[in-house]
Amino acid sequence: NTVFLNGTFMPLEEARISPLDRGFLFGEGLYEVLPCYGNRMIAWQWHKERLTQGLQALDIKLQYDWQQLQDFCQQLTQYNPEPDQGIYIHITRGAEEKRFHGWHNNAEPTIFMMTFPIPTLTEPDFDQCKPLRLGLEQDLRWRNCHIKSTSLLGNVLHFQSAQQEGLNEVLLLGDDGTITEASTSNVFICKDNEVHTPPLSSALLPGITRRIIMDILDRHSALTLQESVITQDMLFTADEVWLTSSTKGVVPVVEVAGKTIADGKPGKHWLDTARLYFQHRFDY
Ligand code: PLP
Repeated sequence: NTVFLNGTFMPLEEARISPLDRGFLFGEGLYEVLPCYGNRMIAWQWHKERLTQGLQALDIKLQYDWQQLQDFCQQLTQYNPEPDQGIYIHITRGAEEKRFHGWHNNAEPTIFMMTFPIPTLTEPDFDQCKPLRLGLEQDLRWRNCHIKSTSLLGNVLHFQSAQQEGLNEVLLLGDDGTITEASTSNVFICKDNEVHTPPLSSALLPGITRRIIMDILDRHSALTLQESVITQDMLFTADEVWLTSSTKGVVPVVEVAGKTIADGKPGKHWLDTARLYFQHRFDY
């Protein structure tokens, strides 16, 4: 497996990072995951935009321009044989001289990238899809979830608790008791012919797949889409619930916190939307 570290492509086994790297010491970094199907990256511009906002929030200045970074990503996918890959980009402030909470920005940022195989997308249908069962927990993460931080301890603890209960994922409740997102995904619900997803705030990540799905529904579907606060009551009386993420695409949910959603089967709006994503993903 070939990875990229600070300008060099190398076997994973040869990649070395200083223990003084502030990513290691403080979890002080950002990451992106973007899907690449048959050498075509999906929504590079939007991932770049989100990363730019994160870098600004953390006051990290990249030593490469965006065209170089995009070329490195493309080259990395060519070093690795899988037809469909997730590209993982990890940027930290780098290794400063001493462990000290404040930063000096006198080190080069560390840039690490690797790829991993993702399932090939095929035309979605009811028989092939793997519907999800979710837990529901109070969100115990920090209050800057809009920053795609590598400090993922909160997300990891939430996700692990779901896995230990044999569930796929966990939906998270904000301070006001409404649903914000899941520990690794954004959430959509459908009621009648309306689709709702929670509005962007610091309580959730502005998911790129969320953005693609919203744009696809706007352009290609008769369903109406609204950014709405989603109460637990709305969730449990929804016709359909979906999760979205770069590695999953759009996936139907059939159970939350032990309660069945509608008739417990993936819905027709999910199928139409997943098909639209399948057809139009390369437009982004
Ligand atoms: N929300 C959280 C907390 C995530 O970690 C992720 C993806 O990792 C998402 C949402 C989905 O974001 P995207 O569609 O950009 O993959």
